[in-house]
Amino acid sequence: MKKLLAILLAVAMLTSVLAACGDKSSEQKGSSDSKSTAADPVESLTAEKSTDKYRSYYQVWIGAFNDSNDDKIGDIPGIIEKLDYINDGDPNSGDDLGADGIWLSPMMPSSTYHKYNVEDYYNIDPDFGTLDDFDKLLKECHDRGVVVIIDLVVNHAGADHEYFQKACDEIRAGKTDGYAKYFNFSKTQDAVYQHPVSGSDYYYQGDFWDQMPDWNLSYDGTRKYFEDVVKFWLDRGVDGFRLDAVKYFDDDNTDGPEFMKWFYDMAKGYKEDVYMVGEDWTDVNSDIYEMYETGIDSLFNFKFANNGGEYMTAASAIGEFAKKLQKYDNNIKEHNENAINANFLTNHDMNRLGSMVYEDENKQLAALYMLSPGNSFTYYGEEIGIETEGQDDKYKRTAMVWDSDNLPEILTEGVGAEDTAPLGGVKQQLDDENSLFNTYRKLIKIRMQNPEIARGNITELASFNDSDCAGYIIDYNGSRVMIIHNVSDNDKELTIDMIDSPELRGWTVAKEKSAGISAELDGTTLKLPAKTSVVLKENK
Ligand code: CA
Ligand code: CA
Repeated sequence: MKKLLAILLAVAMLTSVLAACGDKSSEQKGSSDSKSTAADPVESLTAEKSTDKYRSYYQVWIGAFNDSNDDKIGDIPGIIEKLDYINDGDPNSGDDLGADGIWLSPMMPSSTYHKYNVEDYYNIDPDFGTLDDFDKLLKECHDRGVVVIIDLVVNHAGADHEYFQKACDEIRAGKTDGYAKYFNFSKTQDAVYQHPVSGSDYYYQGDFWDQMPDWNLSYDGTRKYFEDVVKFWLDRGVDGFRLDAVKYFDDDNTDGPEFMKWFYDMAKGYKEDVYMVGEDWTDVNSDIYEMYETGIDSLFNFKFANNGGEYMTAASAIGEFAKKLQKYDNNIKEHNENAINANFLTNHDMNRLGSMVYEDENKQLAALYMLSPGNSFTYYGEEIGIETEGQDDKYKRTAMVWDSDNLPEILTEGVGAEDTAPLGGVKQQLDDENSLFNTYRKLIKIRMQNPEIARGNITELASFNDSDCAGYIIDYNGSRVMIIHNVSDNDKELTIDMIDSPELRGWTVAKEKSAGISAELDGTTLKLPAKTSVVLKENK
């Protein structure tokens, strides 16, 4: 009987199991009060640094993170100042987040605060610092075992990019076989070629904005240009790229997946272990699978993210969660045996998680996505529950709150950090073992202590799955972990007999006020408190 037991039966069984387990420490056998003090194995187990592509990423929006020179704009030296917060280099120190990968938002010279319209692919925007600053950041990260991927915008340039300026000059002079070949022009204005080239009878493609002309990605010259750009940043030491807007590679001139495959092979040919994660924001699974077939390591799992995504759905009714997670993970690995799912809740294009859910759900959601196979991507501030009300992009990218009693001066398009940290800033949450920050810290440590979670293959445990609980096993290189989420307000007693000699490896508690109740394992009987996620490991 693998499913939930009735309370009385459970109590009776627990008592008998406790009585039978003479080797348990007397502390754990005592009253329910003493059980609540059972040590969390997460703090006593050693965590090992990752040396492969499987990482817990932290997305840093540079301009909002930390300002080193008091110009109200976050910058690269500011990130270096805060690296001890992201990862101090010691996976067992317990006072840093522990993320072992960083995704840097766009940093190349650009006329906007978001810098997705790149003017110069070979430099750092002066708002953010210099190439020397960037080299220092890379070295500091690598010394700590942290990889760095940079946001690379290949779909479009900034309208002030030298090549687009030259292209428009030539178009106006009647020349279409020079720089014009780098972009997409037409004499017919339509849904694709929307924007007029002033002083000519041509129009150009700029799918997002007239200041973002789409590159012609099928032109050899464009490919040579980006090959040089990729090599420039790989030579500096970046570990990979977050590729913007890969869905839009496909257009009149270009077969998107064909370009993606060329791009990935080109970069991998230059740096064997380059990591790439693409933004293909779609609900169409077949598009995702087609993109995975190009060889790209990861594509963000938008289907599970954001309001209405599978993680949020699971936080209230989890019944189908393990089945869906297994199906998605199996499918992407069928299309690319090296696929690494890229799990996240929100990013810079979504409303702040803290604005969409209650605190308990923040913690439960963190456990749901970080205990799923693949890489995790945590948007800066998500780990402290930043909340903002506005719907515009600028409200999604407000300042990181290091100390809620001493708010940063950083402004994002004029919006500051007032009232955005109702759970407290980093300073307030670091020493509170029940804080959201410490839930994230624990989850990253659990991912390092149990390498199976990120790297293995998932099998749902159908017998556990109901509206309260979901369970799954992850197999990796002959080793197995089992993960169970209880999203309900009910404490549970479960029998764990689908793995041998289960060992409790850690848990996270989402419910406020329930910190005194711990998950406990006696033999094969698991006490799983309300709103708790546990990790168990098989001992052979
Ligand atoms: Ca600054
Ligand atoms: Ca395009």
